[in-house]
Amino acid sequence: MNPASSPDANRVLIFDTTLRDGEQSPGASMNLNEKLEIARTLEALGVDIIEAGFPVASPDDFAAVEAIARQSTRARICGLARSLKGDIERAAAAVKPAGDRARVHIFLATSAIHRQYKLNKAKEEIVKQAREAVAYGKTLIDDIEFSCEDASRTEPDFLAEVVQAVIEAGARTINIPDTVGYAYPSDYAELITALRAKVPGLDQVVISVHCHNDLGLAVANSLAAVRAGARQVECTINGIGERAGNCSLEEVVMAMRVRKDQFPGITTGIDATKLFGASRLVQSITGLPLQRNKAIVGDNAFAHESGIHQHGMLKNPETYEIMTPASVGVPMTNLVLGKHSGKAAVEKRLQTLGVAVPETNMTAFMEAFKTLADRKKEIYDGDLFALVEEVVRGTTVSMWKLDYLHCSSASGESAGSGAMATATVKLTKDGVTKTDAATGDGPVDAVIQALNRICGVEGTVEDFRLRAVSKGGDAQGEVSIRAKLRPVSATPATAPNDAVVIGGKGLSTDIVQASAQAYLDAINRMGFQIGRLDYRTTVN
Ligand code: MN
Repeated sequence: MNPASSPDANRVLIFDTTLRDGEQSPGASMNLNEKLEIARTLEALGVDIIEAGFPVASPDDFAAVEAIARQSTRARICGLARSLKGDIERAAAAVKPAGDRARVHIFLATSAIHRQYKLNKAKEEIVKQAREAVAYGKTLIDDIEFSCEDASRTEPDFLAEVVQAVIEAGARTINIPDTVGYAYPSDYAELITALRAKVPGLDQVVISVHCHNDLGLAVANSLAAVRAGARQVECTINGIGERAGNCSLEEVVMAMRVRKDQFPGITTGIDATKLFGASRLVQSITGLPLQRNKAIVGDNAFAHESGIHQHGMLKNPETYEIMTPASVGVPMTNLVLGKHSGKAAVEKRLQTLGVAVPETNMTAFMEAFKTLADRKKEIYDGDLFALVEEVVRGTTVSMWKLDYLHCSSASGESAGSGAMATATVKLTKDGVTKTDAATGDGPVDAVIQALNRICGVEGTVEDFRLRAVSKGGDAQGEVSIRAKLRPVSATPATAPNDAVVIGGKGLSTDIVQASAQAYLDAINRMGFQIGRLDYRTTVN
């Protein structure tokens, strides 16, 4: 534990990497405004450190980290860097606007398998590169975190050697990640305990853990590590992240809180009543759907369907509930708004849901609200989330706008599965209007073919989901797609690398229209993904 950065030895620092590791989830890429909104929400939630991105990856990634650092008021802002000068310089420059709250997170793989197959480097070279990277980082910025990538599969003695070297070089936080999600709670705790015994200097810095969920053990491993002395947990909202994801912030925080008996005196800075709102925001922005039975924040987390449970609940909620819905910010009633609801009522509801609509967007938001309320009688929470998405984010994201869509399906004998459909689409971009028509297998396919032609894109849909955002037959349909896209203009030589998987969402009471918007949303997002450097790129 670092007495300098954490005066209370029992305070567990929450390091959120939703914007870095979380964003690595396929299809979860976010634009600048979305990242800024998530960063604001994380600060309000009480997160100690926000890992805002990997600045060297692309100019857009750099700009996002820099903008988050500039916007921040309380949290430490961290940028990721490989153990390379160029990476460290870019990361330090990007987080600089955060002033004395700026952090650079440098990593290097230490396990035998990574040393041999990814880095092709001997142990001594790894120690040297790690030490030099941290020492160089220290010349630019005071707060350096170092991660031994794949630490849980690294020989314990060698891990201790690397950790000692980077502490001597000035690292203030040492991360022992379970990069591949292989660790087992008791072994992982032992690894931390053994490291503390081998490296005396470890008690002068903060020990961090970063667990992946490949075996569903990310939260359990993080908790075991805290009991063994780790005082920083790296996690993401909803547990999103590479592959099976990361340790879920809401679960690890509530486990320490509800099971105080297992974590005596342990505290975090998290305002748990904001967990539900943060979860909904990340779900809405990334388009990564949350399973209904997700712990803490899922739709069913506090639903009691069975009669026996309901009977017990009415007598005393503690019969079946270990925490109250209110303690994690789940709205107590699904208040229904309608066309007679005024601005004050709408704003109050948005506040309860943890959603902020900037004052400058409020007029547009209320117009969209009234339009929707004319079309459907009752406006539910799901509708409000969707409207925020459409009005607040939509206006800043879209480049291509859908002006007109008409679809006709063949009827009669050829109707049914595989029926040909024709779509006519009109789009506008930068004041220029383009119209085209295409045929396809069914209306959605026809629309996609037309969009591809107008936008100059080749694409295939990898995943398509339709969800009603609220109740009733007049409910709005939200289409979430993941599409593999590439510009037609890409040269054949670079073509395979130019295809990117991108998520997009669309919302309408007409599902063909919603599909068109979702696909167009993905096309509009394609720009920030192409040519982006993957942080796992081999270090030389
Ligand atoms: Mn990770």
